Order: sequence, then C-alpha cells, then structure tokens
Amino acid sequence: MPAPSHCGVCGAAIRWTITEGRKRLAVDAEPHPDGNTAVSRDGRGTWLSRRPTEDLPLAPFEKLHKPHVATCTGRQSSEPMTRCLGVINLDERRRDRGGRR
Ligand SMILES: [Zn+2]
Repeated sequence: MPAPSHCGVCGAAIRWTITEGRKRLAVDAEPHPDGNTAVSRDGRGTWLSRRPTEDLPLAPFEKLHKPHVATCTGRQSSEPMTRCLGVINLDERRRDRGGRR
C-alpha cells in the first residue's frame, strides 16, 4: 500500500483519486460513514471516486469517503480572514477617494 499523501494546507492524510470525469479529487484517507464519495481501487492500483446514485449504489468493494475540501481545517480558518481583509481594503479605498476636504 502506498504511503498516504498529505494536504498542503492542513497536513491531514489524504488520498488522491480520479473521478469519473477524469479529474483529481482529494478525499480523506480514512473512510467516513457520512461521506458522499465512493472510493475504490482499479486493477492497476489507481484510486477511483464517484458519487453513488440510486441506479448505482455503493458497491461492496467501495468505501465512502469525504472529499477533503469538506473537512480541510486550513481552508476553513483562512477563508473568513481573506474576506475580512477584502472588506477593510474596500473601506480604505472609499475613504481615500471621498475623504478629501
Ligand atoms: Zn487540508
């Protein structure tokens, strides 16, 4: 089994999978019962992920994982900070323009 990858933002163990749309999707390394992504491994050791549907529910060889973006702590804490900084910048610009006396 290959060593797990780690998120560059929060350092959590993640697993890179390939979605049905051939995109890379990072999921949490550990399965989670509330996950919405079915992760399986193909014959060549590539991790695949897909959304289970009514027609194609979770298969016995698949496990539910959460996409890492849903649990990434680094992203959740930095996003509000970016928003606040943006608001401060806007306020300063407005003051510079309209504040002449
Ligand atoms: Zn992360």
